[in-house]
Amino acid sequence: MRVCVYCSSSSAVPAVYLETASQVGTLLANRGHELVFGAGNVGLMGAVADAMHAAGGRMVGVIPRRLYERKLAHSDIDELIVTETMAERKAEMERRAEAFLVLPGGIGTLEELVQVMTLRQLAYLEQPIVMLNTAGFYSLLLEHLQRLVDEAFMRAEFLDLCVVADMPAEAIELIEHPRELVMPEKWF
Ligand code: AMP
Repeated sequence: MRVCVYCSSSSAVPAVYLETASQVGTLLANRGHELVFGAGNVGLMGAVADAMHAAGGRMVGVIPRRLYERKLAHSDIDELIVTETMAERKAEMERRAEAFLVLPGGIGTLEELVQVMTLRQLAYLEQPIVMLNTAGFYSLLLEHLQRLVDEAFMRAEFLDLCVVADMPAEAIELIEHPRELVMPEKWF
């Protein structure tokens, strides 16, 4: 499958996140999946890509020209797509993805996660979205999503738009065997 991974561009984060990202890269390659990612050579993005490349996996990177010109693209990418804007980049990644895997990250990653959940909520996308909750990184966000449900800002069914795994192997399993979701209309 072509798995789009969204994750941090920071290399300064605790080692557990970088190590887990490496495990994800190795697993994706060993399971014969293709990586679609933001093409970065830094942070968790770089860790996934390094491990993926070491294990012989194929990588597609999609990067906006401004970041590409700053030499921020990973050097081992099999297919590099340079877009003019961030919006075009996101659209290209969504077009190519057969599943989304969200690892810990900053506001860039958060935006990517929320965007694909929003698009799926409105049925613009159908691919599964899996969150890797390494060391409980996303637990506060999951609590906030529950609050959206409790206070009727979101239907309870939409909590299932994103399925949560604690460990990389479980995340890959959820991507390979997605649950069929029957979603209601967005509005109450
Ligand atoms: P953040 O989670 O804030 O670290 O941002 C990660 C996301 O922002 C990535 O998935 C990319 O879309 C984008 N991004 C930020 N920095 C870079 C970079 N150096 N190279 C490529 N993409 C980046």
